[in-house]
Amino acid sequence: MTHPLVIAIDGPAASGKSTLARRVAARYGLRFLDTGLVYRATARRLLDAGDDPADGDAARRHAEALVPFDLDHPHLRGEGIGNVASLVASYPEVRAALLPVQGRFAKEPPGSVLAGRDIGTVVCPDADAKVFVTASIEERARRRTAELRGRGEAPIYDRVLEEIMERDRRDGSRTVAPMAVAADAVVIDTTDLGLDGAFNAVREAIDRRLGRTNRR
Ligand code: C5P
Repeated sequence: MTHPLVIAIDGPAASGKSTLARRVAARYGLRFLDTGLVYRATARRLLDAGDDPADGDAARRHAEALVPFDLDHPHLRGEGIGNVASLVASYPEVRAALLPVQGRFAKEPPGSVLAGRDIGTVVCPDADAKVFVTASIEERARRRTAELRGRGEAPIYDRVLEEIMERDRRDGSRTVAPMAVAADAVVIDTTDLGLDGAFNAVREAIDRRLGRTNRR
């Protein structure tokens, strides 16, 4: 029996990795998990319970109590919750609680695409293909601002830029599983690429890694 195919797509906040990873999953007929949602849902549970994000023990309890239903919460997407998620994700005990869930998901047949920060380095170090998607900070702030506006919010570009910088700093400097490019990952800068251009670049990188010929 062939082993389930696992594709890791990592990248910083608002790099477009989730959108791209979802399309990659559809293209290869694989399951999809946006692992950022796992941390966001943990943060949501903590806030809804009235607990303090600075309380690592409370964060661990919410991570351990997480159920799949929590990922469907309607309010997981904003930059505010992203920032609390980033704080919660910096606690080693939270990461330890959430690691097995992600690992199990990845290995379920027929295989999966996982999007996150540490998929290629920690969650799925043996992934069949690894891509690190990035874009300039200004472009990421522009994309996130447009996305939030599309959802009826009234974001301020400078504020979004600041929040993304803060998340980059925290995600890249935490002691456990910091955001990092895996040694065997292909880095794709999407700053000057539209969504289709970025998708094609990602798909070609994966096809090359999987030893497949490119088909449009
Ligand atoms: O990708 P997204 O912006 O939804 O992630 C929210 C936060 O969750 C990130 O800023 C990061 O701190 C955390 N995260 C993580 N590891 C992952 C995915 C997300 O630490 N694999």
